This record gives sequence, structure tokens and C-alpha cells, in this order.
Amino acid sequence: MQKVYFKTFGCRTNQFDTQVMMSKLKDYELTLNELDSDIIVVNSCTVTNGADSSVRNYISSMSRKKPDARVVLAGCGSHSKGESLFKDKKVFGVIGHSEKENINAVLKNEKPFYQIGDLEHIDSTIVEDFIGKSRAFIKIQEGCDFRCSYCIIPAVRGDARSHKEETILEQITKLASNGFGEFILTGTNVGSYGQDHNTSMAKLLKKMSMIRGVRRIRIGSLEPIQIDDEFMELLDEPWMAKQLHIALQHTSDKMLKIMNRRNDFRSDFEMFHKIANKGYALGTDYIVGHPGEDEKEWTEAIHRVKELPLTHVHAFSYSKRDNTASATMKPEVRGNIAKERHRELTAIIKAKNFAFRREHRQDLEVLLESGRDGIYQGFDQYFNKVSVTSNEDLSANWVFLNNVEVSDEGNKAEL
Ligand code: SF4
Repeated sequence: MQKVYFKTFGCRTNQFDTQVMMSKLKDYELTLNELDSDIIVVNSCTVTNGADSSVRNYISSMSRKKPDARVVLAGCGSHSKGESLFKDKKVFGVIGHSEKENINAVLKNEKPFYQIGDLEHIDSTIVEDFIGKSRAFIKIQEGCDFRCSYCIIPAVRGDARSHKEETILEQITKLASNGFGEFILTGTNVGSYGQDHNTSMAKLLKKMSMIRGVRRIRIGSLEPIQIDDEFMELLDEPWMAKQLHIALQHTSDKMLKIMNRRNDFRSDFEMFHKIANKGYALGTDYIVGHPGEDEKEWTEAIHRVKELPLTHVHAFSYSKRDNTASATMKPEVRGNIAKERHRELTAIIKAKNFAFRREHRQDLEVLLESGRDGIYQGFDQYFNKVSVTSNEDLSANWVFLNNVEVSDEGNKAEL
């Protein structure tokens, strides 16, 4: 039997896609050693020019180290660089996203192949991924209808489309009956779930919460404009994790416009305070150093960050992606300046997170993952990490903590 090795680049969605492909391989053996493989499937990422180079470098290194293996390109890079890599004979085959579920048949091709497929397809396999034995990630949708200037994703993953509600609920029911208590909903643009099926995230959440065994639900990331009244009404529900990740990307209105975002600071500000007043921790994505972010904009933006009740941030330094609107924008921000802004932003949020944790030391509900040497890690309802020392086996257990010790590194407790 021929052996297949999967090399995955990029985000969690790509990791899910690798699992879809693995689950469909019937006539091949999986190997964890690339040098022992007959076929190497490169599930690629193309989010920045740097990501493209990493994929290209990996492919060249494999053609040197393992010249007899067939390299097949899959993932987002197939849709941006697949054609040129195929023409230059750098890869034996190329498959697009819609072809992943046919991988078993596609790999049987004896001749070089270029099967890019379409960007409307939605997989019939919903992938779950597990952390320990207790938390499950469920991908509920694919693609994005937004057109942020810096982002290539809609071009390589297509417009937003949702998985069927029945399939999602069926899967959650199965997992909940197997002991999973926390569910994390993910996708390319999770908050757009349901718009193509005449339903909504709020309706899905309500149905999920009624499944026996579902104890806590988190949503990977939302866009500010996706938070409507129907969703706001759910925030008092006990099964909602008390943390939301709402992607602002910036706090300067000029920058939001340049980035072709759909949010603006005034309404973001109001919404964040409204949600924080309900006892929520709030995280966001933020891009620093995008072209046009001059000193004046940054001063205003960082001042506004201080006014927001933020507790977590994923800060990114802008990185150019060809074939996006931002790639040709001027003036660019120098790397060292972007780095300094990144540092300034993360330091502010770190301090806010610390203050939040000091105020929230009681009534923490923590789902622990598997532990080692008597130390267990988990997240509380506010998405703060807690490590618990205990002589008992607490893996995959819920624990309730009061008076946790709060330090720079995180929260700690002994049981
Ligand atoms: S919301 Fe914007 S940044 Fe996010 S995937 Fe869609 S286009 Fe890209």
C-alpha cells in the first residue's frame, strides 16, 4: 500500500481540511514520516507573501530530500499559486478545496493532474477537533462575503456558505453523549452562519443549548456587524461562555475605511461597553502597520484602545499579500515602527487582562484538559488560562474555583 504524508500550513481551518482528507483516504496508508512517503500532500496557506514562500521552500526541499515522492498541492495556495507551480512542474498534482473529499480517487491519477474544482462547494464531512477529552471544535461554515482590503481569503475560499443545521446538531448530540461539554464554533467567518439557509447564529445556539450534555458554548470569532438584537438576548444565558472574540481590526475610522471594514469606532465602542457590562471578557483581532497608518492615526487609535473594555487581543503586524487592494497602498509603515506599535498594543491589553483577572477571582468554572505531573491546564468562562495542581486525576473535569492566585503568567489554584 502506498504511503501518504500530510504537511499542513496555516490556520485551524486548514488543519480541519487535512482531517477531512485523512478521513477519506481508503486505499493508502498514512505516515508521519515524510521521508518514508510515496505521496506528500501539501495543504498550503497563502495568507501573506511570506506564507507562499514557506510553502514553496518546503516543496523545493522535498524535491531534494525525497525526489521519488509525488508532491500534491492542496489548500488555499492551490487557488493562488497552484497553476504556476503545476506549469513549472514543481508539483505532480494540484487539488482545490472542493476536491478534498475525493482525494482517495484523485491520488490514483498516474498522470500529472490539475483539479482546481470550484469555490461553491461545502464539504459533507463536518470536522470536529478535540482538545483533550472535553472540548470540541466544530466547523459550521466556510468562506467569507466581506472584502477587507488586506485579505485574500474570499478569493481562495469563496463566499460564505453554511453547513446544514441538522448535520451540525446531530454531530454535537453525538459528541455530547460521549462526554464533551464545551463546544467551540469555528469557520472562516463564523458569524455569517445561517444567512444562506434563512437562519442565524442565535437560532443555532439556542438549539445547541437544548442538547443534553452541552454545558458551555464558545464562538470562534464574530464581526461587529453580526451582533444583532437576537444575539444580544442570548448573552445572559448560562451556557454562553462569558467571553466573546469580536474582530475589530482597528480603532481608527480612517484605517477602517482604508481596510474596507464594515465597522466603525463609535458603534464598536457602544457595543463593547454594553457587552462588558453584562460581565463579559472581550477579545479582538487587531492589525498594526497597515499602509496609511501614520503617526496621527496611530495616536488616536491607541488612545481609543485604552477606552475599550478589552481583555484579550490577537495582534498582527501587517504583512503584504499580492493581489489584494492593500498590497499597492501607500505610504507603507516601516517594519520597526509596526513592531513597536504591536508591542505597545499588546502591553496595554496584557495590563487590562491582568486587571480583569484580579477582579474575577471568584466563581470560576474551569474545564480542565489532560494534565501532567499533577498540573492541569484549562480555561475559565472568561477564556483565561488556569493551572490547577492536584493529586487527583482531574483530566477532562469541570472544577469550580474561588480565590485563584493571579500572576503575570496566569491564574493558579490548588485542589
Ligand atoms: S472578514 Fe475580512 S479579514 Fe476576515 S476572512 Fe473575511 S475578508 Fe478576510
